[in-house]
Amino acid sequence: MKAATSTSGPSLSLVLTKGTCPICGILKDFQWTLAETTRPQSDLRLCNFHGWALARSREKLSRSTPGESVTMVFLEMLKGPLAGKVSSDQCSLCHRVLEEEGARLRELAQKLQGAMFAEWMKTQGTLCLEHGRKVKEFIPLRLRTLVDEIVERNRGELERDLEAFREQLKHGIHEGGGLLGRAAEFLVGQRGL
Ligand SMILES: [Zn+2]
Ligand SMILES: [Zn+2]
Repeated sequence: MKAATSTSGPSLSLVLTKGTCPICGILKDFQWTLAETTRPQSDLRLCNFHGWALARSREKLSRSTPGESVTMVFLEMLKGPLAGKVSSDQCSLCHRVLEEEGARLRELAQKLQGAMFAEWMKTQGTLCLEHGRKVKEFIPLRLRTLVDEIVERNRGELERDLEAFREQLKHGIHEGGGLLGRAAEFLVGQRGL
């Protein structure tokens, strides 16, 4: 498989938001654009998550193509040799997400070499456990400590916020402001990755 080196989506710098892993953020959006770009082919293989992601993408597609491309994708699959649900290592869309992930990790690794970016990530940035682990494969030794520091700070912040949230629940206040989602992202990455 050809390794993706360039990407068409937004630059990493544009998606830097406090509390969200930038790689997860980009891949989350990327998964929805897959529905628009997946070409109908009889040997397309889908895992459970991406089968449903396609089915549900209809509402998110632009008005000019209301689910037409996904309809064609499913029609073609129904005519081909039926494979049913496959695991993610055999899923065509999981493969594309992995390619995009690789390209984005390399982009992040390169940006971390810049002092200003590194400082921002150190003090305010977020990385989920998985992408913290993976980006270390692309950076020089001296930067791996920085990644560990970012992940460790994120872990501490989440722990503190969850403790506070637990106290809040005792008083009947249930507004967590997406805290549980942030905890899930940190622990296992975004859905379908
Ligand atoms: Zn992530
Ligand atoms: Zn998949």
